[in-house]
Amino acid sequence: MAPGTLILDHYVGQNRPPPLHWKDCHPSTRHRFKAELTCSRGHGITLKGHAVHSDGRVEPSVVCLHPGCNFHEFVRLKEWMAGTLVR
Ligand SMILES: [Zn+2]
Repeated sequence: MAPGTLILDHYVGQNRPPPLHWKDCHPSTRHRFKAELTCSRGHGITLKGHAVHSDGRVEPSVVCLHPGCNFHEFVRLKEWMAGTLVR
C-alpha cells in the first residue's frame, strides 16, 4: 500500500458517516456513486468520479470540494465487499 494511504472505517448506520468513515450506497446506485465518505473535517464526499478496487483502494486520490477544506488523500475503504467498480 502506498505510504500515506488513509484507511477509512466502515459505517453501517442510517446517518451520514462520521469523519474518516465510509458508507455503502444503495445497491441500485452503487455502480454510479460507489460509496460516500466523510472527510477529516466532517464534509460529505461521494466517490462518483472514482474507481474502487476489490480490496477497497480508491483511485484517484480523494479531494474534498468544500470551500476552504484541504482534505486530499489516498484512501482505502475497510471491509469493502462490492468488488471492483470502474470509474
Ligand atoms: Zn472537507
